[in-house]
Amino acid sequence: MVTELPLLLTPGPLTTTEATKVAMLRDWGSRDKAFIELTAMLRHRLVDLINGRNSYTCVPIAGTGTSAIEAMMSTLIHPKSHSLLLVNGEYGRRIAKMLTLTKKSFIAAELDESIPFDNNAVTHLLDSNSSIDNVILVHCETTTGLLNRLPEISELASKRKKKLFVDAMSSFGAISIDTSKIKVDAIAASSNKCLEGVPGLAFVLAKKSLINKSAGISNSLTLDLHDQWQGLEGNGQWRFTPPTQVVAALNTALDLLDSEGGMDQRYERYSENCQVLISGMRKLGFHTYLKAEDQAPIIVTFHMPKDINFTFQAFYDFLAKRGFLIYPGKLTKHPSFRIGCIGHVKQKDFQQLLSTVEKALKSLGVKLPMENSFGKE
Ligand SMILES: *Cc1c(COP(=O)(O)O)cnc(C)c1O
Repeated sequence: MVTELPLLLTPGPLTTTEATKVAMLRDWGSRDKAFIELTAMLRHRLVDLINGRNSYTCVPIAGTGTSAIEAMMSTLIHPKSHSLLLVNGEYGRRIAKMLTLTKKSFIAAELDESIPFDNNAVTHLLDSNSSIDNVILVHCETTTGLLNRLPEISELASKRKKKLFVDAMSSFGAISIDTSKIKVDAIAASSNKCLEGVPGLAFVLAKKSLINKSAGISNSLTLDLHDQWQGLEGNGQWRFTPPTQVVAALNTALDLLDSEGGMDQRYERYSENCQVLISGMRKLGFHTYLKAEDQAPIIVTFHMPKDINFTFQAFYDFLAKRGFLIYPGKLTKHPSFRIGCIGHVKQKDFQQLLSTVEKALKSLGVKLPMENSFGKE
């Protein structure tokens, strides 16, 4: 019997199903035919999720999501090219560090953490920087839960023949990216967010024509996507030790995504979670950081209450003791905390969370409903 507790209401790793956990109860020979076949199947299934069978390939990388982004930056951004990096949160800033470390030429356009990149913002940037070859975007900025407007930005970039690179870490599996409609050159994502697999595996979905031209560009051995791709295309094997159990778990998690009805159904479930969460928290007097139209149903940032009896650590501990793990905030300007809507969790879990939040506030001696919070008067 695998216990379901705790529920991880975080940006990942997330709550997984029992079937996904059970999928890890087997050993695999990394160079054995059975694992070679499993890897090939998984790569195809991930490419199918973006409707990319003809022109895209999937290159898996052992490691965290950040490894896949770093592999994408180091291998697929040409050393002689110039990039526009769109930054409105911590994950955008993280990519700036990677570009700096790998000595790539770029400009970072920074917006406030509450403002999405959309058609207007990006048109202006592209029109005023004609030397740009690549646009780099974080799809859902997990710092806040903000949804950047990928379809609009992809349209602008492709019309101007700019390459588009997307960190889709926290959206992949929930917010569909159909490459027959949305033009992208490469997408980085990982197994342990909306795909509801476990941590240790990340991947890049890249245009075959792009990866084909990227030999010798990466200055890292483990993060060289071209080399990894050549290995997989050659004998079907990973160059170095693959996270075998994690690969098996992701394959089962993809079965569950299919049986749920695909990404659109998953998006619906997360949206319901998000609505139940936000409306319940509002009733208690919490305020969300983002406007409703900018909120992705991935993770919600709440302003920290101002009541002097409220302390985040005591609140966190009360919830954690009862099986709900929430997440600290990451805003640069306002005290905040976050609650994730993603993973193997449903409306009824959020209803239970909300009644536990109410109990927590009462036990802390917070006056209900709360009257104001930091950053929101
Ligand atoms: C989670 C996440 C990452 C990578 O996180 P890891 O901790 O390296 O797995 C990168 N970008 C975004 C937008 C994320 O949400």
